[in-house]
Amino acid sequence: MRILQTAHLTKQYVHGTNLINALDDVNLSIEQGEFIAITGASGSGKSTLFHILAGLGRPTSGRVIIDKFDLRKLSADDLTVFRRRRVGFISAKPLSYNLVPVLNVYENLILPILLDAKEPDDEFIQKLVSLLGLEKNLRDMPGVLSDNQRLRVAIARALAAKPAILLMDEPSDCLDDKDSENIIDLLNVINKKFHQTI
Ligand code: ADP
Ligand code: MG
Repeated sequence: MRILQTAHLTKQYVHGTNLINALDDVNLSIEQGEFIAITGASGSGKSTLFHILAGLGRPTSGRVIIDKFDLRKLSADDLTVFRRRRVGFISAKPLSYNLVPVLNVYENLILPILLDAKEPDDEFIQKLVSLLGLEKNLRDMPGVLSDNQRLRVAIARALAAKPAILLMDEPSDCLDDKDSENIIDLLNVINKKFHQTI
């Protein structure tokens, strides 16, 4: 099953008198369960693409279809709900991974589900917590965690709502090579175990 498709996606930025073609006819097709990396030099348009795929920005032209939803056809309100339910998005910026500083790890994990007026799937969340090695951190506040731990909390939170796709824009930017490899190993396990598209 196709989980994500883009057709003739373009994004132009106006910078002074210059027109920057950040995306120029991007056609992408991703099947359910795939684990894909997008690589390219700095400035080649990766973050621009992720923002549009996550529904945070609109393209200049072209279409994005995720989980059968054409993002162009969603109202601003519907897009907000769609993002909360169907897309997990993690970016290395900001370094806090947008965790809420006054809530502990467990409260952060279930916050998007509570905002959606849904019941958290405790069994599934418990599986995520143990897979990501966060059992001992559930009552910790984000501020006392390492970058590596914070990223693992952000991954667990992104997956707790069982999104159609997990999008990550250079998530391990701030980690050293060993920690980065460890995160990629974990993502591989999550991809296989839950058939999660990443
Ligand atoms: P990457 O993530 O691969 O480094 P970006 O998507 O951040 O690439 O940037 C792609 C191009 O678009 C670059 O030339 C960058 O300078 C430009 N760009 C990105 N965001 C903006 C913006 N808000 N306004 C103007 N130009 C931008
Ligand atoms: Mg970038």
